[in-house]
Amino acid sequence: MTNPDVLVIGAGITGAAAALELAQSGASVEIVDTYGPAAMASGWTLAGVRQSGRHPAEMPLAQAAVAGWPTLAERLGGETHYRQEGNLRLACTEAEIAHIKGLVDSHRAQGLDLDFLPTLEDVRTITPALSDRVMAASFCPTDGHADPNATVASFIAAGARHGVRLSTGEAVERFETQGGKIVAALTATRRITPGAVVLAGGVQVNRLLEPLGAAIPFRITIVTVIRSTPTAPILKPVLGTAGAVFAARQEWNGRLRFTSGSEPFVGTLTERDGRPFAAPNIRRLRDTIDRVGAVLPPVLDCEIEAVWGGLLDLTPDALPVIDRAPGLDNLVVAAGFSGHGFCIGPVTGPLAADLALGRPPRLSLEAFRFARFNALDGPAAPLTLHG
Ligand SMILES: Cc1cc2nc3c(=O)[nH]c(=O)nc-3n(C[C@H](O)[C@H](O)[C@H](O)COP(=O)(O)OP(=O)(O)OC[C@H]3O[C@@H](n4cnc5c(N)ncnc54)[C@H](O)[C@@H]3O)c2cc1C
Repeated sequence: MTNPDVLVIGAGITGAAAALELAQSGASVEIVDTYGPAAMASGWTLAGVRQSGRHPAEMPLAQAAVAGWPTLAERLGGETHYRQEGNLRLACTEAEIAHIKGLVDSHRAQGLDLDFLPTLEDVRTITPALSDRVMAASFCPTDGHADPNATVASFIAAGARHGVRLSTGEAVERFETQGGKIVAALTATRRITPGAVVLAGGVQVNRLLEPLGAAIPFRITIVTVIRSTPTAPILKPVLGTAGAVFAARQEWNGRLRFTSGSEPFVGTLTERDGRPFAAPNIRRLRDTIDRVGAVLPPVLDCEIEAVWGGLLDLTPDALPVIDRAPGLDNLVVAAGFSGHGFCIGPVTGPLAADLALGRPPRLSLEAFRFARFNALDGPAAPLTLHG
């Protein structure tokens, strides 16, 4: 298939969800990925599925996504291991309590069901294992979490049943353009001539966008991720903190997965066992264990199964780009998710598909346009939550 109706670059959650939507709409679709499904952010992720803590512009996407997650596995005919067990955002200082209260007020004004739990006793009704460092929390009962690898695999399998072809181990190296359109995408061995392209390449999109003068102005940061071996149930909701210094959840299989805050990525993306790998350093690892252990002491007795670095693509306003590339009618870009694109992937993929098919998008994309960067001037957005 060298001339699919739509070429999707990237087999993360965004590309996999876009491909399924495109194929279900009758398009012939090929996905190309340098590695394979969920090889980058969609595998590195914490995989929280949350509306709480969202920017107002992203809230409609998060609410639409959360409405769809409970039945997603059934729709895909595969596993997601989705659990709607809430999101608990902890406050351990007076300043953090004030921050959380502000978050609760602003979200309630937007119609989100978010509770403020004013005492440790209240917070322990949700998670008894928390230490007495915790003073208060917000709790969003409709938030949750899912298994990212299983979810992406289910999207890919559902796409395959609708005729999506997946080509792995092959990178798109550049585009050929003519008359305001992409006419070909070149890999080391092929010249693919699609009708349209959905570029869902995560932190690597600018390699293809820069030569077109359409780079997204994001900075890349790294988050340390630690996964334990399976352990007794201690945590149902996703845990976050007012200051975004860590997040944690317990997977359906008992493994704990916890993440640090993020900091500038100064290392190199290498490969390990044929997969992209960003090494976390020992200081970040120690800090993360200390911070999580201070509020959830049982984690200190768990065995570590794996440690990795996850890269984030932080745009200046911490919102993604879901738009046609400037001056290129048939190139749709969906990237710059700024550490919170997993939850909304089942919605952002179809939104990118809408644009690629020339349909009106099902939700407003005004806040996610390239053009907004021309007007943005000032300091970068503060670090947002990735949990
Ligand atoms: C540590 C961490 C924690 C996170 N926590 C959460 C969370 O709790 N909740 C949440 O909603 N989000 C979270 N996120 C963010 C979320 O995981 C990402 O926003 C989301 O997975 C992005 O998916 P994607 O499909 O757009 O990109 P990716 O999953 O990064 O996929 C991009 C794919 O494109 C491929 N590719 C790139 N360039 C090319 C090319 N030229 N040719 C071929 N293939 C190419 C790559 O190999 C890759 O497989 C977190 C992210 C990290 C790193």
